[in-house]
Amino acid sequence: MTAMVKAEGVHKSYGAAHILRGIDLEVAPREVFCLVGPSGSGKSTFLRCINHLERVDGGRLSVDGDLVGYRQKGDKLYELKDSEVAAQRRDIGMVFQRFNLFPHMTALANVMEAPIQVKGESKSVARERAERLLDRVGLADKAGNYPSQLSGGQQQRVAIARALAMEPKLMLFDEPTSALDPELVGDVLDVMRDLAESGMTMVVVTHEMGFAREVSDTVLFMDHGAVVETGKPDQLFDKPETERLQQFLSQVL
Ligand code: ADP
Ligand code: MG
Repeated sequence: MTAMVKAEGVHKSYGAAHILRGIDLEVAPREVFCLVGPSGSGKSTFLRCINHLERVDGGRLSVDGDLVGYRQKGDKLYELKDSEVAAQRRDIGMVFQRFNLFPHMTALANVMEAPIQVKGESKSVARERAERLLDRVGLADKAGNYPSQLSGGQQQRVAIARALAMEPKLMLFDEPTSALDPELVGDVLDVMRDLAESGMTMVVVTHEMGFAREVSDTVLFMDHGAVVETGKPDQLFDKPETERLQQFLSQVL
């Protein structure tokens, strides 16, 4: 079975700062894979490498069997053209800490936009899907609202619906609930849990340890740009093997 995400010795530096120091991991199709670790450990950088918002400068990273940003011919790697990178990215949904909705568009229009603009889909098809997705994230009655008329949690659920509208094969979440008021977190996590149950492959950076323990198939603890421990949630949370993970858990739990 082809891994949905496969990283082999992935390195990334910003100037002299060596941020990712040889990341190895594999995410299977339909797997929910949570990345946890201290602030500054490189979690966002790694997520951004998966959809080529950042370029990997060492090692290999592939999504569903295709190298991200490169094509291999013999022993040589060739950078893909922008249009080819865009085509790869189309299959990967990303949800950030900040919701990044288009402020001048309704929730419905936000969800319809990418399929129309990027895939050339007809308005009626895009609208039908957008209505279904807004219903799925519990916002059928907010379709006509502008982002400013929605709570942070509602905006984030629209952002999830917007990513799903492109029918991605992989969803990346970068701390999707950490900008939300505590009482709004649950609704967003419920949507993510539902998505996980539907079989979506998900890589989730989160500080929500309850969610990571309950929903993920695999948890990876990262520190200083390297994988420290990885395994089933029960293993990691109940029997952390390294002092670094024990220390991290004592701080966040
Ligand atoms: P995390 O998401 O785990 O908090 P990040 O991946 O955001 O960590 O950041 C890892 C390190 O890389 C941090 O030290 C951060 O300052 C640095 N970094 C992130 N993005 C950039 C950038 N564009 N230029 C320079 N340094 C960066
Ligand atoms: Mg981050």
